[in-house]
Amino acid sequence: MADNRTVFKKIIDGDVPAQLIYQDEHCIAFRDIDPRAPTHILVIPRKEIRSLAEVEEQDAALLGQLMLAISKIAKEQGLANGFRVVTNTGKWGGQSVDHLHFHLLGGRQLSWPPG
Ligand code: AMP
Repeated sequence: MADNRTVFKKIIDGDVPAQLIYQDEHCIAFRDIDPRAPTHILVIPRKEIRSLAEVEEQDAALLGQLMLAISKIAKEQGLANGFRVVTNTGKWGGQSVDHLHFHLLGGRQLSWPPG
């Protein structure tokens, strides 16, 4: 049978390996396989949500939990000089994996605006 899971769902299910940084009942965080900064971590909900364009009222608490987890991870990773959180959304937003994820980038001076 066809496996329609995204690579991130496979990581959640333990079927694709990842360098796990953090996990709790709401989310998991792991290192990006193609890092764009010295620290590049992806934080994703366990719940399958395709993107920020598809969140619903009932996801409000979950989104808050994700932000709290990101803040906690940034502290644990020593990103005291600052960091950036990005969620690419849809085709024009440059999204390549259809499972909501937040990039946590840090460890160097980041430029603005992004490309
Ligand atoms: P986006 O392009 O915003 O959808 O981000 C998807 C990110 O997932 C990219 O930065 C990829 O490098 C990363 N990625 C894809 N597959 C894996 C994987 N198996 N483990 C870790 N990161 C991955």
